[in-house]
Amino acid sequence: MRTSSLNLLQNPTVVVLAAGHGDNDPGAVNLPHKERDQAIIITDRVAEILKRNGVEVEIVPHEYGLSGSISWINGRFVFGDAWVLELHRDSANGLTLDDASRRCGIYYGTSDKSKDIGKFVRRSLISNGAHANSWARPDTNSHHGRLAWIRQTRPVAHLLELGFMQGKNDDAHLNWLAKIAASAIFEAFTGRSLP
Ligand SMILES: [Zn+2]
Repeated sequence: MRTSSLNLLQNPTVVVLAAGHGDNDPGAVNLPHKERDQAIIITDRVAEILKRNGVEVEIVPHEYGLSGSISWINGRFVFGDAWVLELHRDSANGLTLDDASRRCGIYYGTSDKSKDIGKFVRRSLISNGAHANSWARPDTNSHHGRLAWIRQTRPVAHLLELGFMQGKNDDAHLNWLAKIAASAIFEAFTGRSLP
């Protein structure tokens, strides 16, 4: 049974996940590692964990980049149907390895209810092992000023940044990032902890 305390997540019945970037945009690169490739791995893994625990999940086909993903979603879902999340890896120089490996973040939209979800997910990420520097910010604080993913999708939308490309990049670490992301999404969506 779902008992989310978060107003905007009480009606949606499905979590929709998309891997950030695509359409020949690899995202952040720390050779040989590319953000897009890792985002796909993490997205598939998060979906697997959520489905195994009874959450209905759709993945935006990985052939689509940002604008194609938004069209795909808006052709299938309206506000109240779904919670849509785009998954990214972050990029910055000068962080310690531990901070770069474990610091995560979430961008939220303009409403207080969207912010409530952001704050909840940040707390949940940290309680599941993310770095204490993990953050929740309005999309107006992103490098792009505002995020099309959040502004142009019809359902409630958030964007996750899962560790930095300058941190650990091995498969075990990507699995760990997927696990904490899945835990936070599950807790926000269902009001329960991942078993
Ligand atoms: Zn990105």
